[in-house]
Amino acid sequence: ETALSALPHSGEHEVETTLRPRKLAEFIGQPRVREQLELVLASARKRGVPPDHVLLSGPPGLGKTSLAMIIAAELDATLRVTSGPALERAGDLAAMLSNLAEGDVLFIDEIHRIARPAEEMLYLAMEDFRVDVVVGKGPGATSIPLEIAPFTLVGATTRSGSLTGPLRDRFGFTGQMEFYHPEELELVVGRAATILDITVDEDAGAEIARRSRGTPRIANRLLRRVRDYAEVRANGEASKEVVRAALEVYDVDELGLDRLDRAVLSALVRSFGGGPVGVSTLAVAVGEEPSTVEEVCEPYLVRAGMLARTPRGRVATATAWEHLGLRPPAGTAA
Ligand code: ADP
Repeated sequence: ETALSALPHSGEHEVETTLRPRKLAEFIGQPRVREQLELVLASARKRGVPPDHVLLSGPPGLGKTSLAMIIAAELDATLRVTSGPALERAGDLAAMLSNLAEGDVLFIDEIHRIARPAEEMLYLAMEDFRVDVVVGKGPGATSIPLEIAPFTLVGATTRSGSLTGPLRDRFGFTGQMEFYHPEELELVVGRAATILDITVDEDAGAEIARRSRGTPRIANRLLRRVRDYAEVRANGEASKEVVRAALEVYDVDELGLDRLDRAVLSALVRSFGGGPVGVSTLAVAVGEEPSTVEEVCEPYLVRAGMLARTPRGRVATATAWEHLGLRPPAGTAA
C-alpha cells in the first residue's frame, strides 16, 4: 500500500460528474436545443412511446453527455453508455442491443467512429428494433432476426459531417450545440462555485467565463485551477487579479487560447506565411493528430474569427496575426 493509493478517490473526473446538470431546467444555455428537446420529450411522454432517436453534434465539452443523461432522467429511463470506438465488432453492439429493456436510452459517444459492420447493424435496430445475428461462418452461415425492445438512441459527435448519410437519416432530430455566450458561462461558473464551495466574486467569475473558449467544461476546469491558486497563494478567495495570475500560470491567454491553440496559430502564421495550408500539415507542425486540431482547436479559432477554413486550406485572419503581436501582410482578410 503506497500513500497515494490510500488517498480517497475524489479526482477531477468525479468532480465533473458532480457538476453535471440533472434536469433540462438546470441546463444552462443552448436555448434552441433545449426547446427542441423539450418538445420531443413532452410529446413522447404524452403518447407513451420512447422518443425519436436524437443526435447531438458539436465541439467537445459543450454538454452532449450531460444532455444524454438528462434525456434519460427526464424519461425516468435507464441510461446505457458506450462509444463508437468501443463498438469495433458488431457482436459487441448486438449484445448491448439485445440487453436493452423497453424505453432504455442508449448513449453512443463519438458515434462517427463506429465501425462499419456495427453501423449497419444499427440501421435495422434504429428503424425496426431488430438485429440480424449471424450464426456460423462461411457459406453455411445464417442470419437470425432477433427482436429488441423499443429504445431511444442518443448519439453524440464532434463531427456530424463525417457521419454517413444513412446513419444521419435515421435520427429523428439533430441538436446542434453552439459555443456558449460569456453571460451563460458566468452562470455555469457561478453554479459550479456554489457546488464546490468556492468563493468567486462577480468580476472574477466574468473573467473566467470570458476566457473559457465558449465551453462549460473549460470554465469548470479553469475555476478549479483558480481555486488552487487562491488557496495556495491568496486568502482562498478568487478576485479578478487572482484569476489573471492563476491563468497566466496555466498558459491561458487574454482570449482564453491555450498553448495548443497558440501553437496552431503560430505555425500557420510563422511557418506557412498565414496559409493556406492543409490541416494535416498544420497538425504535423504542432505535433498533434489532425483530428485534435480539427475537432478541438479549430472550431473555437474559427468562431473567434482568427482562422478560416477555405477549400485550399487553413488561413490566418488579420486578427490572428495581431493576436500574436505581428503585422498582417497586405491583403490579409480581417
Ligand atoms: P460533451 O459530452 O459535449 O463533451 P459534457 O456533457 O461531458 O460535454 O460536459 C462537460 C462538463 O461541462 C460537464 O461535466 C458539466 O459539468 C459541464 N456542463 C456542460 N454543459 C453544461 C450546462 N449547460 N450547464 C452547466 N454545466 C454544463
